[in-house]
Amino acid sequence: MPQLSSRITMLNEGGSDGWEVFYRARALVAAGEPVTELTIGEHDIGTDPAILQAIHDAARGGHTGYAMVPGVSALREAVASRITRRTGVPTTPDNVLITPGGQAALFAAHMAVLTPGDAALYIDPYYATYPGTIRAASGRAVPVATRAADAFLPRGEAIQAAARDTNAKSLLVNTPNNPTGMVYPQETLKEIAQACTDNDLWLISDEVYDTQVWQGAHVSPRSLPGMVDRTLIVGSMSKSHAMTGSRAGWLVGPTEAIDRLIDLATATTYGVPGYIQDGALFALEQGAGLEQQIAEPFRRRRDLALSVIEGQNTVKAIPAQGAMYLMLDIRATGLSGRDFAEALLDDHRIAVMPGESFGKSAAGHVRVALTVADDRLAEALHTLCSFAETKARAHA
Ligand code: PLP
Repeated sequence: MPQLSSRITMLNEGGSDGWEVFYRARALVAAGEPVTELTIGEHDIGTDPAILQAIHDAARGGHTGYAMVPGVSALREAVASRITRRTGVPTTPDNVLITPGGQAALFAAHMAVLTPGDAALYIDPYYATYPGTIRAASGRAVPVATRAADAFLPRGEAIQAAARDTNAKSLLVNTPNNPTGMVYPQETLKEIAQACTDNDLWLISDEVYDTQVWQGAHVSPRSLPGMVDRTLIVGSMSKSHAMTGSRAGWLVGPTEAIDRLIDLATATTYGVPGYIQDGALFALEQGAGLEQQIAEPFRRRRDLALSVIEGQNTVKAIPAQGAMYLMLDIRATGLSGRDFAEALLDDHRIAVMPGESFGKSAAGHVRVALTVADDRLAEALHTLCSFAETKARAHA
């Protein structure tokens, strides 16, 4: 076989992608073992039957040919008015590109702003695909460290220093955040905007959890002064409407950037299936009620999980304010997140993600996805805490 490109062989820097515990858990499940899977951000419900019916009707109605590459006009309009409503920034369909999910939007955004070799910043801990996405776009992936003591919120000066040291072109942020569940406060957003304007950075703002906020409010950095012309919003139907498998998302940004991104879509995805877009439009038209209904179990389970954690002293929780995860500090056990997660899977058939899978800053932590029924989640967390207590006692 001729050699593969360095771009693709180095996507994960030639090493592991940090998902071994997840794959091992899936292999155990496939072999018939009962495993409580608290790993990936996938709802424990399927897509609403009414949305499936809309997809079915659209397909049966003939929307099965090539769809418009930038997206179906009605969906671009619906996304534009949603973003106008949520950000207060006037947004038109020309500011919107429909993409096959948020992940494709993340890749396209970096393709749009990076010339090969450019440095692209992202906040550590991060959603696991980020560095690979940047490298796939031939960028240099540069993490900006945060501290557990700051609840993993980024500091303006750390972003400023990283931008200066690397002559970075872009910064990728995510609020509400995966894996930490934090919702960036106004002060953090202001510091981010300042770093972008001071260093002439593009801001890629991943807002795929914007309907899952339990405390505070979601503020899009696109709405901050000076940011509208340098921000690309990444959005998705995956989390807000339990449509992970439909692959429907978007990019919102300046029209000049969207025009070039349409060229990129023509050369790569050639758009998103029309019947999926019709289903997404139907879903958005259902309004906030459906979004709240889909988000509610995560709010409830977050409260439940925090109450279990409050009942003991070994494991500490980052007090999640949004999204569908809880980050747990297990450093009292003396174990790395990875060793803890491997041992928990071995001994109790509970699968959680090692913090290290999301970057160096989250070492000694594990991420719990709040994606199983309440009683099962509570039981798994009680087990996790007593397991941690046993390990901590042995370590002391
Ligand atoms: N961004 C974040 C922070 C995520 O957690 C995910 C999925 O888990 C995505 C983007 C990608 O979502 P999708 O491609 O399903 O829209």
